[in-house]
Amino acid sequence: MSRVLIIHTGGTIGMTRTERGYEPDGEYFRSAMFHMDSLKAPDIPQWDLTETEPLLDSSRMTVKEWNKIGRQIADNYDDYDGFVVLHGTDTMAYTASAMSFMFKGLNKPVILTGSQIPLCETRSDGRDNLITSLVIAGSGNVHEVCVYFGGLLLRGNRTTKYSADGMQAFVSPNYPVLATAGIEIQYNDAALAGETAEQFSFTPLDEVAIGVLKVFPGINFSLFRPMLSGVLRGVVLETFGSGNTPDDSGTLEAMAEEGRETVLVVCSQCTQGTVNMSAYEAGGALRRIGAVSGKDMTTEAAVAKLYYLFSVCRETEKIKEQIERSLAGELTE
Ligand code: ASP
Repeated sequence: MSRVLIIHTGGTIGMTRTERGYEPDGEYFRSAMFHMDSLKAPDIPQWDLTETEPLLDSSRMTVKEWNKIGRQIADNYDDYDGFVVLHGTDTMAYTASAMSFMFKGLNKPVILTGSQIPLCETRSDGRDNLITSLVIAGSGNVHEVCVYFGGLLLRGNRTTKYSADGMQAFVSPNYPVLATAGIEIQYNDAALAGETAEQFSFTPLDEVAIGVLKVFPGINFSLFRPMLSGVLRGVVLETFGSGNTPDDSGTLEAMAEEGRETVLVVCSQCTQGTVNMSAYEAGGALRRIGAVSGKDMTTEAAVAKLYYLFSVCRETEKIKEQIERSLAGELTE
């Protein structure tokens, strides 16, 4: 029988109602888990439960928490066949993206899941999300970091939170679904990552100063000067369509000249599709300032990739080159 380690990090799934709104409640969650009959069924892998301290609403997660979760998985890697990380939905796609870069040579599933309605409520979606994640984590079919939510298994670093209140909260707009949980769980073998011969390793991330800037009609780039002129080491620019930006009379170019060491990653405000900065003249300023293409990466993956690359590499040019390459299946080359 396979063994799965469940790591509870916080999020709606394990919250209870307080005067201040829903808050993580580890004691309630532990007791609910141990009393859930379906978790004792013979087709459920053997599981252990651990938690990170303190349990958090995922909107409060930082690089420190990513490192804590990563460390727990790395320390237990040889003792389990798979890992289920219970996590808030708000930043689940960021954590999943970060994990995909932190682990090299991953041959076991790391499934992030949570719920829109807490387990303590009658209509909670947490029960299915948890049980199906456990089954997938124990199945031996998956060798990568994924998000399981609302019947879909998605590649973690291709995932984005799409709905604030729907039960299918996540989509993977630029990569096929890895598995669909209907009566049977149907795995999409062509899309799933294969096994790797590489040795497993874990790289904690550094807390690097990076930023995200969404362009909008009328943007005055000079008001964002500190972001673009060297204070931040990396900035994800969410541009229009295929990588177009307003032309602010050369301000962008002047500031970029001051901040030559800042890595600018061009992503799109569109959920689906890819960046192609040479498609329009309006992408020209970005090309001239040496911005690199995030291609079809989600903003979440681009943010996590910047943290990762600045943690392992010092040379700006090398980082720029790696941004445009697929390191963990996060973009289409
Ligand atoms: N605010 C919650 C969190 O991200 C939302 C959720 O879990 O659905 O922790």
